[in-house]
Amino acid sequence: MGSRKVTSSEPLDWQGKHVTVAGLGVSGIPAAKVLHARGAHVTVVNDGDDARAREQAAELEALGITVRLGDGATLPEGTELVVTAPGWKPDKPLFAAAREAGLEIWGDVELAWRLRGPDAAPWLAITGTNGKTTTTQMLASILKAAGLRTAAVGNIGVSLLDAVLGDEQYDVLAVELSSYQLHWAPSLRAHSAAVLNLAPDHLDWHGSMEAYAADKGRIYEGNRVACVYNVADKATEDLVREADVEEGCRAVGFTLGTPGPSQLGVVEGILVDRAFVEDRHKNAQELAEISDVHPPAPHNIANALAAAALARAFGVPARAVRDGLRDFTPDAHRIAHVADVDAVAYIDDSKATNTHAAEASLAAYESIVWIAGGLAKGATFDELVAKSAKRLRGVVLIGQDRALIREALARHAPEVPVVDLDRTDTGAMLAAVQEASRLAVAGDTVLLAPACASMDMFANYNQRGDAFAEAVRELGS
Ligand code: ADP
Repeated sequence: MGSRKVTSSEPLDWQGKHVTVAGLGVSGIPAAKVLHARGAHVTVVNDGDDARAREQAAELEALGITVRLGDGATLPEGTELVVTAPGWKPDKPLFAAAREAGLEIWGDVELAWRLRGPDAAPWLAITGTNGKTTTTQMLASILKAAGLRTAAVGNIGVSLLDAVLGDEQYDVLAVELSSYQLHWAPSLRAHSAAVLNLAPDHLDWHGSMEAYAADKGRIYEGNRVACVYNVADKATEDLVREADVEEGCRAVGFTLGTPGPSQLGVVEGILVDRAFVEDRHKNAQELAEISDVHPPAPHNIANALAAAALARAFGVPARAVRDGLRDFTPDAHRIAHVADVDAVAYIDDSKATNTHAAEASLAAYESIVWIAGGLAKGATFDELVAKSAKRLRGVVLIGQDRALIREALARHAPEVPVVDLDRTDTGAMLAAVQEASRLAVAGDTVLLAPACASMDMFANYNQRGDAFAEAVRELGS
């Protein structure tokens, strides 16, 4: 045999293959174990060398897996394939060395894709800057309502490797994919896929907006039945046009307006399908009412339409779309209604950690007291503030980078009252909610949609949302 580099697709003979797994962690550890169990010589390399890494290393070494801590840069001698944690940046020296040696580099998704069995369930795949988790869960709920065996997997809690190698049998998988995962998944071929939207995010990792978009666009490569795009976001349609798909695969748009042929959209409060119907030039199929979508905010209707499009591409009947949407409840901290106090609604969208998400959230309410701020991650706020200004009753700013938002407000909404809270202690959220309640009048919405990450004040966005809910409860007591 000539080269022993791994280039063929599964089933591979893993016996004796030298595989380097980059990164201990949620994807690296299971990958190392699975490949070791198949007879590969696995070496795990990891940048960190802390107590936790040592513990994990000891566990793997007990199985016979080699682990190199504190050196994630050097490619071990004899490596034939690299399997990386999705978050590892492509410009790492380890990858340069692997490319130099002509080796393939697989992420966790590629590994799962290659290891899945011959009768494996097809994948309905979802990516986008915002709305991935919600849409993937909606899709799984719709597929379940159609009586299909399915799960929401991927960048969402359940690992793809577990889903494809576990004992559970599936008819189809609803797969959430991040841009990082797509970057490292060159041979993935979904049944159908959707890109929900595209806004600048993670640009430090990808290097540029073009590179970020190109990685998202990989989700459409080789699609068999439908490439689902957002009519309101031309960049998503461009990605469909650039994709190399299977003969007969269709481009299907979703829109909050009246759908054209080959689109899903909304007509007089009804979600309708003009893509997966007979004679789509004349006919439309009612799928559900807007009130079947929780919460019925515009961006979430868009998510529901994207989920419906993928389900319909898989042949799911209209009634299951409705039932699945009705059954669905979003995860916590995503436009969660916490309470009404003195006829003011308090909404927790702590998950709105970037400006694109916050913009969608602000567009869902008429008159808002907005609680915002935190870590800006290099974002600018002019566009967000300019677009949302007319809806703002007032603003309460928290967190490290709040001056950036305050300056954008001064430029684009100088008449809106702003309370700038110069504190980052644990009681700051209570103070913010109290200030917001003073600004609000009956019928308003107090909306926590920070447009920023939370780590300057909280462990994560969950804790930030919990602090908000706690403060609202205190206000109402
Ligand atoms: P992701 O998995 O992509 O982070 P989530 O479903 O967890 O997305 O939603 C994250 C946040 O993004 C939500 O709290 C909401 O503010 C916002 N969001 C959800 N769907 C959309 C959408 N279609 N467009 C813009 N923003 C959205």
